[in-house]
Amino acid sequence: MGRLAPAGRQLRDRVQDLIVGRIDAVTRILFESFSAAEVRLFYAFGYAAIAAFAYGVYVQIRKYRRGAPLKLDGSLWKRLGDMITAVLSHRTVDRRDPAAGGAHRLIFYGFMLLFFGTSTITLEYDILEPLFGVRFWHGEFYLIFSLVLDVAGVALIGGLIYMMVRRGWMRLPKLDYARPDRVPGDPDFDRPQYRREDWAFLWVLIAIGATGYVLEAARLVWLQGRPEIWDVRWWSPAGAILAEAFRALGLTEHGAALFRHGLWWFHGLLALVFIALIPFTKVKHIFTAAGSLMVRDPLAAQRLPRIPESQEQPGAAKITDFNWKQLLNLDACTKCGRCHEACPARAVGAPLSPRDVILSLREFAQATLESGTVPGAAELDIHGKSPGQVAQETLWSCRTCMACVEICPVAVEHVPIIVQMRRKLVEDGAMDPLLTKTLQTIHKTGNSFGESKRKRAAWTKALSFPVKDARKEPVDVLWFVGDYASFDPRNQKVTQTFATLLHEAGVDFGILYEAESNAGNDVRRVGEEGLYELLAGANVAAMAGASFKTIVTTDPHSYNTIRNEYPDFGGKYQIQHYTSFVKHLFDDGKLRVAKRLAYRTTFHDPCHLGRFNKGYEAPRDVLKLLGCELVEMGRSRANSFCCGAGGGRIWIPDPVGSEKPAQNRIKEAAAIPDLEVYVVSCPKDLTMFEDALKTTGNEGKFVVKELIELIREAVPVRLPEGTAV
Ligand code: SF4
Ligand code: SF4
Repeated sequence: MGRLAPAGRQLRDRVQDLIVGRIDAVTRILFESFSAAEVRLFYAFGYAAIAAFAYGVYVQIRKYRRGAPLKLDGSLWKRLGDMITAVLSHRTVDRRDPAAGGAHRLIFYGFMLLFFGTSTITLEYDILEPLFGVRFWHGEFYLIFSLVLDVAGVALIGGLIYMMVRRGWMRLPKLDYARPDRVPGDPDFDRPQYRREDWAFLWVLIAIGATGYVLEAARLVWLQGRPEIWDVRWWSPAGAILAEAFRALGLTEHGAALFRHGLWWFHGLLALVFIALIPFTKVKHIFTAAGSLMVRDPLAAQRLPRIPESQEQPGAAKITDFNWKQLLNLDACTKCGRCHEACPARAVGAPLSPRDVILSLREFAQATLESGTVPGAAELDIHGKSPGQVAQETLWSCRTCMACVEICPVAVEHVPIIVQMRRKLVEDGAMDPLLTKTLQTIHKTGNSFGESKRKRAAWTKALSFPVKDARKEPVDVLWFVGDYASFDPRNQKVTQTFATLLHEAGVDFGILYEAESNAGNDVRRVGEEGLYELLAGANVAAMAGASFKTIVTTDPHSYNTIRNEYPDFGGKYQIQHYTSFVKHLFDDGKLRVAKRLAYRTTFHDPCHLGRFNKGYEAPRDVLKLLGCELVEMGRSRANSFCCGAGGGRIWIPDPVGSEKPAQNRIKEAAAIPDLEVYVVSCPKDLTMFEDALKTTGNEGKFVVKELIELIREAVPVRLPEGTAV
């Protein structure tokens, strides 16, 4: 204790003055007044609890081992370090809900301190003292620890009470278990068993904490005649206050002894039952969440896995087709509802909640993989005929926008799980007829518009300068144009404008002409892995035949798959989205703003540029360079709201009469006073939002524009004849 700070030393000296010669005698009272039979009985309960806990852990690990194999990349030590940092900082729990993060921090640190404090008592009493004669739970160590544990208990109870307030009084929508894929009256509509479990979890922890204080107070009153206990009672302030209250209420030493004896058993048995049930209840998230964070894939949604060669058919037909990490993911879910709240499909009333997908699979995994016998088929009914399973319209509602993966505090990776089930649906031909037709069209023509390959570069004909064929002559920049920018008439105008900007800036660029195919990003997210492999292979082969230094694309979907997924197919490139490329052109003085635009704008972050690839700054920087005022929408950057086109949904009609995500988003923008321009930087966004502007009745109030169009306005260039302004 020689290393104590001056204040600590003063405090220590005062205590020593007070109880000269007795401080070393201060210690934790454990089994005093208990008969030998009682002590043996308590140990029997303790061993039973530990055995139940160990069995539960074994059952869970056996369940995960029944999943498909998976080899993790990277160093385990780095993963461990990252996990510990995330857990200790509570960074992932704080995000977009700092109140919940703060309360969880109180619970976490309170629980951990109490757990380790109690464990050290066992360590001394059962191991170190009997075997080695080592004692440390006495004197100053005991006093300081008493104070720390008392404060920890208050933190724990405070955090738990706040969580109760959120569930019981604030009634946050994200904590409501009503499912969008079920109707009231369905047996699993709002999963009442989860509500019961949540409340039981909170009450049991509060009961353990509160009875701990009452027990401490009763002990103090019982032993008030022993100065080495009573004189240092304020080192346990909460217990001491309660003890004073008990004395004021007339509790005698004898009464306190009896009360303490009975309560000790209640408290002890409650704590043992809690320990025994950890692997079987929500409490296991202490371990599964940490495990899930440790095995997290930072590119989970951006780079989907290939189908393992060992797998007989694509997709998840059985629960055991999910790998062990995905089964662990299912158990890590704490039902916090953040993904449910962030999901754009759920927000517009589609029958999908990422939370419910995870919980349904978890229930199925528990039912089929936790039994002692090797599971039978454990087949998933992804065609949605059985209650309690994930329906196919749920799976097709997903936009693979990654909002769920991005916000999940425990690193649940929903998108690969959903796509894996979609692969099975595609294999079975269970999809919308228009989607089937589009996939066939892409297979036949290499593009989703069903146009001849030769027409892919038809937009270049209106330009006043030739665009190089990168297959025939070397270029600095290969422009991967993408389907929408190549074939959609509205987007073709933007494409021509961008080509003109590049030309005027003196960029040496070229395209692949008819050798370019659909990049495959959305085909892959639909679940058509075979077609994706064909497309990726064709593009990698075409690019291998071209000479270039870097790739630029105006299409965030192509950008994502070329950047993150083509490396698995042998295509490793430098690639930039046009927003960062143009920013460099401005920085290098190759483009100059001639006319500052004074528009009041808002910017929509495309999922595949923002959330997927963290491209938040460049478009905003460019808007500022142009002189525009930028007003952020409530949902922006990582929390941006999907336009609804992703995951192949642009090829699947939305149910008649339902709100579309793009309409929901345009309504959000319309609430910005005096908004003039809604700025996008993705060809699909332009299509989706121009349509939504009309269908929501906002036409004429503000306009939707590609950032490229604003750049053109601020950097006047010679436009090709027939190009719209
Ligand atoms: S990826 Fe997007 S649409 Fe799909 S479940 Fe997650 S949040 Fe919902
Ligand atoms: S999956 Fe993650 S974000 Fe969604 S409810 Fe579970 S813990 Fe929360």
